[in-house]
Amino acid sequence: MKLRREILARTRRVVVKFGTGLLTDDQNRLAVPAIERLARQVATLHSGGRQVVLVSSGAIAAGMGALGFARRPKHLPELQAAAAIGQGKLMALYGEVFGQLNLHVAQILLTHDDLKSRGRHLSARSTLETLLARGIIPIINENDTVAVDEIKFGDNDRLGALTATLIDADLLIILSHVEGLLDRTRQLIPVVPEITREIEALAGGTDRVTSVGGMKSKIDAAKICTRAGIPMIIADGDRGAVIGDVVDGGDIGTIFLPKTGKLESRKRWIAFFQKPVGNLVVDDGARQALCTSGKSLLAQGVVRTEGKFTAGDLVTISDLAGNEFARGLVKGSTGVVVHRDDLVIL
Ligand code: GLU
Repeated sequence: MKLRREILARTRRVVVKFGTGLLTDDQNRLAVPAIERLARQVATLHSGGRQVVLVSSGAIAAGMGALGFARRPKHLPELQAAAAIGQGKLMALYGEVFGQLNLHVAQILLTHDDLKSRGRHLSARSTLETLLARGIIPIINENDTVAVDEIKFGDNDRLGALTATLIDADLLIILSHVEGLLDRTRQLIPVVPEITREIEALAGGTDRVTSVGGMKSKIDAAKICTRAGIPMIIADGDRGAVIGDVVDGGDIGTIFLPKTGKLESRKRWIAFFQKPVGNLVVDDGARQALCTSGKSLLAQGVVRTEGKFTAGDLVTISDLAGNEFARGLVKGSTGVVVHRDDLVIL
């Protein structure tokens, strides 16, 4: 498709997310042939001059067997124990499989906190840059063994989107067993120009015994990517040569088109890596001033505040109808409440 080829023409840095279902068999063992097949595709992309970062799930599933779980456990310590076992198995397998293709891999385990604090955010980014510059394949997962709810990314679709945003990737590919986003008649939607309410309504969760997420988390990931200016594609990882075909602009899966050009690094950090601690409800005049005139938010435009926050905290900004349309760092409670440099319109 012409549009896709144009959008993907300058794709140099790609983040590929592998879902648990793709990496494990029905007995929750790591699916070696599938992983070999995906690794060969990554190697092909790499030898074509692309930089590839993997976000890999599968740790919890791979550790379940050793603990005697047939289904994904519910309790956090059990999930964490499973991840502690499975992550090692997963990396050992990646190391071996990529080793046969003469590539080195590097493990990076992150929690939400790591990317939230500006210093650690920049440090994770420079580590990734260093690895990529040297031709290594970084493999990222959530640091499940220590992550508790408050510091969790939640799911790896989101982690994939945040990784793409962190390193300013040109494309995020999410691979699982689904063909893409399907409409109500179960037909594939090839292109999503904008994530509307109708699109969101098509997304359900997952019913697999090992996985989390489903289509809902993929749409949430697409919201992050498209706002950060990065195209995202959901495609079927079982399909042969899927990764190369997607990057070449093939008519596969669903592409979510970026909303704008790339968002500048500090604004990406403000918009996506902070957890909002409150909300400011603003009047229509203020909304207009922020969205169309690029102004700062002044105290007189704020109708109501929700939550407790102080200077430097991240808040969401919503209109009178309750729609969140911006995020920003609070400056103070009088005069300028959020300065335009610290504000991102969503
Ligand atoms: N981090 C989890 C794992 O490796 C997966 C989370 C997810 O797939 O969203 O098992």
